[in-house]
Amino acid sequence: MASLGNTIKATGANVAFSAAFKYLEKDPVKNFPKLMKWADTFTKGNSWNKAVGRFQNWFDEETWQGVLIKRVLQDCNTTYLKKFILNFFLNSGVKGMPIARAKSEELGVNVPWAILMDPTSACNLKCVGCWAAEYGKHYNLSYEKMDEIITQGKELGVYFYIYSGGEPLVRKKDLIRLAEKHNDCAFGAFTNATLIDEDFVEDLLRVGNFTFMISAEGNKEETDSRRGEGTYDAVKRGMKLLKDARIPFGFSGTYTSKNYQTISSDEWINEMIDDGCLFGWLFTYMPIGSGADVSLCVTPEQRAHMYKRVREMREYKPIFLLDFWNDGEYVGGCIAGGRRYFHINSNGDCEPCAFIHYATHNINECTLEEALGSPLFKKYQEGQPFSDNLLQPCPLLDNPEKLRQIVSESGAKPTQDLDLEGVDVLTAKTDPIAAAWKPVADQIWSCGHYPHNAIINHALQKRVDLTCGGTADCGNCGRIKVDRPTEKPAHIV
Ligand code: SF4
Repeated sequence: MASLGNTIKATGANVAFSAAFKYLEKDPVKNFPKLMKWADTFTKGNSWNKAVGRFQNWFDEETWQGVLIKRVLQDCNTTYLKKFILNFFLNSGVKGMPIARAKSEELGVNVPWAILMDPTSACNLKCVGCWAAEYGKHYNLSYEKMDEIITQGKELGVYFYIYSGGEPLVRKKDLIRLAEKHNDCAFGAFTNATLIDEDFVEDLLRVGNFTFMISAEGNKEETDSRRGEGTYDAVKRGMKLLKDARIPFGFSGTYTSKNYQTISSDEWINEMIDDGCLFGWLFTYMPIGSGADVSLCVTPEQRAHMYKRVREMREYKPIFLLDFWNDGEYVGGCIAGGRRYFHINSNGDCEPCAFIHYATHNINECTLEEALGSPLFKKYQEGQPFSDNLLQPCPLLDNPEKLRQIVSESGAKPTQDLDLEGVDVLTAKTDPIAAAWKPVADQIWSCGHYPHNAIINHALQKRVDLTCGGTADCGNCGRIKVDRPTEKPAHIV
């Protein structure tokens, strides 16, 4: 009944929203307050109402959030804008999340918010340090299998699907078919952007529910040295095609000991904003596979630098930045193992996370519900959060003893085709990294972290700890201090 109620509510919302959206089609920036007024009425009495209020406040103020909202309204094609609000907020949030909660209770397995899957292991590039190359080039999830996963997922309340790989756009025709068929879902892909062309852009404008996290590594020299000559220009070309067509996208950047300063610089982030990125997902380099170069892993000081810089840039850059490890505090630690998401590789192995290559179940031999109930996922969820310090969220990078225990107790097997790296070999590389990070993470956590319900507190500007600089009550801070810009940044217009 709960699901039916939510479906009816969401259907009503969709109809009402379609009428309200007409305002936005005419003059998005001018009419945004009218849409918010409608949203305020519609969400009265439920938890989304506060979010609506926050959006309106941000829009009214000259903050980076307000500028970002205006960028989205001005720079997004209206089909995309409409699909984003309908599929991402209404279907995945208002409709999907309550269905997922009800199904979790009914079935006794946790239903996540998103599913990440690899259409193929093939890639047209061979980047240094990318594990995708280790899987070999011969695995694919068939169109039918991906369709089945999404169909089963929607029944469980999952309306958000992300592709990684390999290079997912090697299968772009199938991905467009899926976006077209499941036009009530939101789709995203981690891509190197080199296969984005005019025909594909036309397809995207037709479906309107497919966005991209484009891999970017720093400047031309850094990009081409890691990913091959000419890659930088090809990435820029892909971004330009999307920007010119007003298709929303962001960047995905892996920071290493070599490029972390470039990636965290004002200049580089400004360049990404100028290239059209509305959001940026940051990842730290993980030493996965026998060919991994451990010297590329960031030191504790470099990771702390990223922690500080991302928070600084969030104060004034009109781009939504997210750091997959250092932001564990916003989401209660590790989100993998089906808690909020999980990963299906191109061979069908159901892995807890894109970075954790072990599995007990394969989607070619089980249903989605069975995969979600896998002993590996159960062990993962029992262990989460893996540390009381949410700046040490990861069972591989920060708590390797936990990953050894989970893999051994669940009987999970390695899935990385070429070297089948065992968990002891893998975690031997991260043991010293975790030990070195712990004292630094503890210090930041003891006096500089956002509280657990940080998203709300962040919005309420409760940032006392981060700005105390050693002078607030805790008295032991001073190492990680966020420097606020004193002048209005150039992008706030
Ligand atoms: S396993 Fe590590 S990388 Fe994956 S979601 Fe959890 S914390 Fe993040």
